[in-house]
Amino acid sequence: MKKGRILSGMRPTGKLHLGNYVGALRNWVNLQNDYDCFFFIADWHALTTDYADTSMVKQNSLEVMIDYLAAGLDPERSVLFIQSHVPQHAELHLLFSMITPLGWLERVPSYKEQRENLKDKDLGTYGFLGYPLLQSADILIYQANFVPVGEDQVPHVELTREVARRFNQFYPRKLREGDKDPKREVVFLEPQPLLTPAAKLPGTDGRKMSKSYGNTILLSEPEASMRAKLKTMVTDPARIRRTDPGNPDLCPVGDLHKIFSDPETMTKVNEGCRTAGIGCIECKGWAANNLWKVLGPIQERRAQYEANPKLAWDLLEAGSAKARMAAEATMKEARDAANLSHEYAPPTQTASGK
Ligand code: SF4
Repeated sequence: MKKGRILSGMRPTGKLHLGNYVGALRNWVNLQNDYDCFFFIADWHALTTDYADTSMVKQNSLEVMIDYLAAGLDPERSVLFIQSHVPQHAELHLLFSMITPLGWLERVPSYKEQRENLKDKDLGTYGFLGYPLLQSADILIYQANFVPVGEDQVPHVELTREVARRFNQFYPRKLREGDKDPKREVVFLEPQPLLTPAAKLPGTDGRKMSKSYGNTILLSEPEASMRAKLKTMVTDPARIRRTDPGNPDLCPVGDLHKIFSDPETMTKVNEGCRTAGIGCIECKGWAANNLWKVLGPIQERRAQYEANPKLAWDLLEAGSAKARMAAEATMKEARDAANLSHEYAPPTQTASGK
């Protein structure tokens, strides 16, 4: 018995890195056991900030799908799809845009933050202001019960709940003959955030791992390249000489160990680092060995899709067809409620009988 439906997605910005894996993907793989899962590639969302050059969006979507599959998302258990192949998302976004006060969107924290941070791009666009509303449509069109998010994304789920309430208030659900859910009075269920335990994963320079900092280790990083990157990774600045003791809690390599290493290795790192009993090169070698235990199997699975990328695209298409069916069922109800049904209805008589 599943515990409810989950919806989440990622923007196609290219091959995924360890930060994407630890921050979300690893958690999604586990959620598949307990929830009815919909995971998507948010290509329209990519355009809200990168509209000026879309030359890589399709290629990047395929890369993300290959990483999804390689990491362990299973098309037999989850619906894996691409957002722009389900046009119902856009239709619902449009409908929501009619009823959503501008102030709700202007006060979303990430709106101001991103406009400040991405100063090299002109984000004074309608699409950028409306992207949290597109997210609301993404979630509500599948009647998701939960959205796995970090703390910083909770305001987006709250906005989604407000939009659902407002729509439900304006447009009551219309019951149809043979309705499968006659007790539900509203069109949209209000989703809840499912807080993802956030592990700290630094990039090779010690800052947050991010493509824009150029400090990533890709899920598809070849072993030799991963080891070379770890060799140059920054460490606890207090360990200048081999004889200086350090502190794994203040070291990005220590953070890597906490995520990927077994308790036995952790004990060796904690003792050896704090007493200067080990050198950083040795310690980084252990981190690389343990990281490869995760990356190796991912890359083995990746190889079959790299050899035949069409296989991944076909799975994405099949998933998108399933997603369209689920989305259309909700959209039908939403159109019905807003008196926009595609079905013929005979003219009703006015009060004067004309
Ligand atoms: S021994 Fe390991 S944990 Fe300690 S500073 Fe060096 S790399 Fe970091």
